[in-house]
Amino acid sequence: MNTPITAYAQLAPGGALTRTTLPERAAPEGHDVDVEVHHCSVCHSDVHLLDGDWGAQAMPFVPGHEVIGRVVRRGPLAPHAEGALVGVGWQAGACGRCHACTTQREHLCTGGKLRTCVGRHGGFATSLRVDGRFAFALPAALDPSVAAPLLCAGLTVFSPLERFAVGPGTRVGVVGLGGLGHLAVRFASALGATVVAFDPDLTKTPFAKQLGASDLVDAMGALPTNAVDVLLVTTHASLPWTRWMSVLDLEGTLCLIGVPAAPLTVSVDPLLDEQKKVTGSVIGSPATMRRMLELSAAKGVEPIIERLPLDRAQEAVTRVREGRARLRVVLDVAG
Ligand SMILES: [Zn+2]
Ligand SMILES: [Zn+2]
Repeated sequence: MNTPITAYAQLAPGGALTRTTLPERAAPEGHDVDVEVHHCSVCHSDVHLLDGDWGAQAMPFVPGHEVIGRVVRRGPLAPHAEGALVGVGWQAGACGRCHACTTQREHLCTGGKLRTCVGRHGGFATSLRVDGRFAFALPAALDPSVAAPLLCAGLTVFSPLERFAVGPGTRVGVVGLGGLGHLAVRFASALGATVVAFDPDLTKTPFAKQLGASDLVDAMGALPTNAVDVLLVTTHASLPWTRWMSVLDLEGTLCLIGVPAAPLTVSVDPLLDEQKKVTGSVIGSPATMRRMLELSAAKGVEPIIERLPLDRAQEAVTRVREGRARLRVVLDVAG
């Protein structure tokens, strides 16, 4: 199969997504696979790239890095058979040689950042090419039409939960209940933790409980102290960090998943007197991705999505940019 690719691309910086045709590709080589895209969801990172927040992108720029599709062509070394249903996330490859790669932390690769829709065409398209080692077999129990956001958002929230050994007996706080936060509550709950959500909108309380949280606390009100072992901050807001450190119990960890614009300022006292920690997290390793997909399949962890056809890609991006998506928008491409 060697057909032209239909894509929705930005043709000039700041421009709207426009239907365009990309040239046919030669057969994949090495570990590469060509994935016929069935579904691709819109991540905030796509919006940042479209808006030029992370520098100029090569034009035409095709966003999209939460992809579900089918392998239709494979390089001779690719780990998937033709016809395999796979998911692709933010990472498109790794050097395989650096310290991060040789210690199973490929997502921290220092040998050049290979991103699915940076410097290459992403998933707002009928076909995507990726290193097959960064395409992940989709467990049969997962609904392919819903699963796309797991590939970036799901991994992003699951990876720190795994890193901090969250399980029964752990108390987890999740700040924000949007695209990332609602999945964080679901995963932490699926892992057996006690979860409390923080959001300024108290009308979300029944929703938070439905996701698995024991309660929702007003993020703008009085905060509980020594209440959680792990606090995942999924918003992009610059918060009064020292106040939020008080929500942690002794030796607890505040972990950023969102990207606040301003540098963090934190009092030293809780870092010394209570040995609290501040860190961040970015996507996760291929091994973590596999465990995340398996847990999702086993426990029924699914993102809450709305669906639009690919030809409404611009509308989907606008809904995400304006915070109007409930809670993640999946573009149906084919399948
Ligand atoms: Zn993403
Ligand atoms: Zn590397």
